[in-house]
Amino acid sequence: MVANNFLNIVANLKQANKVLVLGHIMPDGDDISSVLSLTLGLKKLGKEVIPAIDWKIPSYLGEIDEVLLIKSFEEIDIKNFAPDIIAIVDASSPDRVGRFSQYLNDYNVLVIDHHATNTLFGNINWVDPTFGATAQMILRINRELEVEYDERLALINLLGIETDTGFFRYSNADERVFKDAAALISLGAKPDVIARMVLENKRLEQFKLLSRMIEKLKIESDGLLAYSYLSKEDYEELNCTDEDSGGFVSEIRSIKGVEVAIFFYEYTEGEIHISFRSKEWFDVSKVALLIGGGGHPRAAGASVKGKIEDIVDEVVKLTISEIKNQKP
Ligand code: 5GP
Ligand code: MN
Ligand code: MN
Repeated sequence: MVANNFLNIVANLKQANKVLVLGHIMPDGDDISSVLSLTLGLKKLGKEVIPAIDWKIPSYLGEIDEVLLIKSFEEIDIKNFAPDIIAIVDASSPDRVGRFSQYLNDYNVLVIDHHATNTLFGNINWVDPTFGATAQMILRINRELEVEYDERLALINLLGIETDTGFFRYSNADERVFKDAAALISLGAKPDVIARMVLENKRLEQFKLLSRMIEKLKIESDGLLAYSYLSKEDYEELNCTDEDSGGFVSEIRSIKGVEVAIFFYEYTEGEIHISFRSKEWFDVSKVALLIGGGGHPRAAGASVKGKIEDIVDEVVKLTISEIKNQKP
């Protein structure tokens, strides 16, 4: 991987006057954190920066007022803005920026990401899968640019480190993660504020949805694989949206003896997102890649079109055979 492009990325950002910062579709905490931390950092240096994501911002992050800065695809008039740079964070391939992908050929594109499956689609790519969160990479960029941190920036930057490490529980929560978190906490970030915002902010309907998901739960591969799915009707019937099932895949993984968890959800009729998680040895990114997605060894995903029952069948079969291949 091209880790030494760090300084090259920093030099490009330093020179730029106008930057379009892009995150990925179906944004998560690390994505929002990285987009906003880079945006606020560059703005502090006096640059004109527009952050944008071609997807709805999850409402559980709405408590961070700065998300209002993030523009939708429709709000960006790129010719008029004429950015010197498009900086893309936490996205492993061009399709992950949604409709913005059509602009990438015409601009100087910097890619900052921690996915091992990154296709290195920028003009300069700083891709380092040893980082637990892209937000840690943004922290390093901001430091190198001598951005002054205030409490808000520290909190927003910490958000991605907390969410992508499962609040410091996953195997990616290494010493550097704790050191970065500690640095941001000493700059004023409150980790408990983020934990409450993300974890303890549930609507009652979400529990009914969880109950539906558990009713449909199935176990395969001698207890190593657990999976479940929710259809568009399930969401509608229970007055929920796909946003309400965030974290369900982690619930499935939490079952004793389960190594691989899969959660399928129909976010739009006929369009299914598949979330994969594993505990110790199974590389879920291999299965995700086979069906056109990507991610990390312990957390990966893909979006596919079709009938949900058929997709569940196919992907479960594929995973069962991959479990046989990978079993230590
Ligand atoms: P999630 O299951 O939370 O949607 O995603 C887990 C991980 O897989 C994240 O790191 C995310 O970036 C990655 N991922 C999810 N969906 C896709 C996808 O469709 N394509 C790629 N390349 N990566 C994905
Ligand atoms: Mn992400
Ligand atoms: Mn990430």
